[in-house]
Amino acid sequence: MGELVSTPLPTQFGDFLIKTFSSGNEDIPHVALVHPEVDFSKPVLVRIHSECLTGDVFGSRKCDCGDQLHLALNQCGAEKGVLIYLRQEGRGIGLTNKLKAYQLQEQGMDTIEANVALGFDADMRTFVPAVAILQSLGVDKIKLLTNNPIKLEALKEAGFLTVERVPLIGEEFDSNRNYLNTKREKMGHQI
Ligand SMILES: [Zn+2]
Repeated sequence: MGELVSTPLPTQFGDFLIKTFSSGNEDIPHVALVHPEVDFSKPVLVRIHSECLTGDVFGSRKCDCGDQLHLALNQCGAEKGVLIYLRQEGRGIGLTNKLKAYQLQEQGMDTIEANVALGFDADMRTFVPAVAILQSLGVDKIKLLTNNPIKLEALKEAGFLTVERVPLIGEEFDSNRNYLNTKREKMGHQI
């Protein structure tokens, strides 16, 4: 996958290069934040983050996405890593459908039951673009920041030398506890 643009982006988490890659929709390209001094000869710290507007931008406490994003950016800034930001909001169902799922959750469903009630799979995300972006950047050995064993498997199957999983634990609140419990109990997340 070819990058569309690359330019320096200093942030509160450190200096990065910001790069975009086609998602098939030119208004919402996938994004990579790449530390300018990544050492590709060693395992690279990588976070693959799927967009969550409510968590990433508004600090929602219904999930742990914002916390995970900021922790991951801190670590990628400190350890010369790469953060890939995939534009698959709401585990791939889009913002409006995610908010409809929130309505159903207000009536007692969990995050998976709500997605299924709306006619979606529990998880519509794909990590195929992340694989293509990592290959295009020249990353082949990975230390993956994740609690999600499916993501680790997806990278191993794609042929990367995934050397280790680095856990990423956000804060737990009363308001995101049900969500985190569902991730633990129904999605196999190691949190
Ligand atoms: Zn979220």
